[in-house]
Amino acid sequence: PSKVRLVVVSNRGPFVLKETATGVEKQWAVSGLVSAIMPLFRTTPGTWVAWGGRFASEKEAGTTYQEGNLKWVEVPLTRREVELYYDGFANQVMWPLCHHFLEKCVIDPDWWTGYREVNQKFASLTGKVGHDADLIWVHDYHLALVPSFLRQQAFAKKSPKIGLFWHIPFPGPDTWEVVPWSREIIEGLLGADVIAFHVPKYVENFLQCVRAFIDATVLPGGKLIFYQGRVVEVQAIPVGVNQELFSSLGKNPEIREKAELIRQQIGGEKLLLGVERLDYSKGVLDKLSAFERFLEKYPEYHGRVTLLQIAVPTRNGIGAYTELRRRVEALVGRINGRFSTPAWTPVRYFYRSFDQKELAAFYLAADVALVTPLRDGLNLVAAEYVVTKGEKPGVLVLSRLAGIACHLREALLVNPYNPEDMVEAIRQALEMPVEEQRKRLQALQQKLARWTAATWVRSFLKTTLEHRAEYSVAT
Ligand code: UDP
Repeated sequence: PSKVRLVVVSNRGPFVLKETATGVEKQWAVSGLVSAIMPLFRTTPGTWVAWGGRFASEKEAGTTYQEGNLKWVEVPLTRREVELYYDGFANQVMWPLCHHFLEKCVIDPDWWTGYREVNQKFASLTGKVGHDADLIWVHDYHLALVPSFLRQQAFAKKSPKIGLFWHIPFPGPDTWEVVPWSREIIEGLLGADVIAFHVPKYVENFLQCVRAFIDATVLPGGKLIFYQGRVVEVQAIPVGVNQELFSSLGKNPEIREKAELIRQQIGGEKLLLGVERLDYSKGVLDKLSAFERFLEKYPEYHGRVTLLQIAVPTRNGIGAYTELRRRVEALVGRINGRFSTPAWTPVRYFYRSFDQKELAAFYLAADVALVTPLRDGLNLVAAEYVVTKGEKPGVLVLSRLAGIACHLREALLVNPYNPEDMVEAIRQALEMPVEEQRKRLQALQQKLARWTAATWVRSFLKTTLEHRAEYSVAT
């Protein structure tokens, strides 16, 4: 809708700011969210409110840039604010809690206070720059309180629609109970007109939390909530894969050549691939252990199969991540130390990130993608692998605990906590006849074809714009 005045609010936005000797420099940020939303701003003017990734001094005003149709507004955060709100509450309470790692949640009232204050800061700035907005689209677990803070503000023209998309899993009330502030968090979210999650299970968990913690009525049918005289709509609208990009990369002769080269350089017959941020929720340790057990159990595969593991650095300042890296690298060393021969290295390990062209070459080269998170909101890597393959054979081994698994039933589904299941899935994947590989991939591709990054943006905006606060109970 071209006339809609849209404001997007997220922790990280389209630009990263770097302090240099000559002043502040901005660089384009690379993220799924940015590539999904930016096409909108080619045709429609809009505003994006986000932190720039740098530490501002106290009382410093944020920077603003106009880039074509897009106005970008920086939320200036001090080092202390980032420690409390981002490293602290968002990444050491919300993230582990929502991914069911309760033992990693640290309950610290200062972090909560910092989180509230920074959410308030995002909301006030959004209120100022978006005073004539039609629609404000808030993103993710960093900003759970922003919808209700926005609702408390006065907007110049009329009440804008407020939508929130939650990008990670949403657990049920038994899990949320661990956090002393869960009621405030759910109330914060309920400030929105529309709250959307990736899959129906997270919607159900959210509704159960509303029933458990809040004085509100969930209407029969389960998508509408009556809360403080308003109607809040809850929906499952999964993020989609960038179809055009990955299917064209998959057909690109240059990328195909690169994939061939990767296979030749690695040698052996079969290539297994893992691609993930080095986050404990991604299950890299369990995957490596399963591969080690596989090599113990099936020695006939020695010299014939290699696991290429890409581990993308993430959240380096947090202890759990440093410790995970140490353990992953020790395990890679142990497996290679045990099984390598002069002609074969069982695990090829990369601790860095690759651009999407390089990634597509890895997807094409791999016989099997091992996507085995212990918990994942959706998981785009699984979808990208399937789309990039095109008519080529390949097998997707996918954790049942990834959100996307509820749609991708034709993958080889595994329980990543069960080592035997993982070992047998690796074997089954390696021995699957090419015809069956193609059949399964085609079925998966058909599902994903209807479901792109662009359709995600369109459905979310349409649902939020069409939301009516005055639904009667009869509807
Ligand atoms: N990705 C990338 N370079 C890498 C590894 C990953 O660009 O070296 C991209 C990948 O293409 C995917 C995203 O990072 O789009 C990861 O998304 P996913 O949903 O799998 O996991 P997240 O990191 O968001 O938890």
